[in-house]
Amino acid sequence: MAVRTCPHCQTEISAPISVARSNDMECPKCGAQLEVASGSRTISTICGLAAGTIAWRLSTDLPGDLGGVLPTLYAFLAFGIVSPLVLMLTANLRNAPAVPVPAPAHESSPSLHVAVGHGSEHH
Ligand SMILES: [Zn+2]
Repeated sequence: MAVRTCPHCQTEISAPISVARSNDMECPKCGAQLEVASGSRTISTICGLAAGTIAWRLSTDLPGDLGGVLPTLYAFLAFGIVSPLVLMLTANLRNAPAVPVPAPAHESSPSLHVAVGHGSEHH
């Protein structure tokens, strides 16, 4: 469940690697550009927020002098632990959008290469 596979060559990629480098990673075997599908990130973020909220509520109910600080700390820790864990368990790899490769200049059509480096912001 926690092991990703490259959509190109089916090479197994360990979950910690895919989470740690989910923004910009390559398949170690075939070099395909991969990223974690955005839906998995949404799920992990929601779960992290839920865990943080639960931790906040539990810690604010505790009697004690540190009530002003601990809830924030616990909520922060819960989010920081749960969110990557959920991402690790749910993430699917997909092909990353094609990265514009700095192409060697072709003398025949210089106008086509002016825009290289601009049009990569499509989400
Ligand atoms: Zn691959």
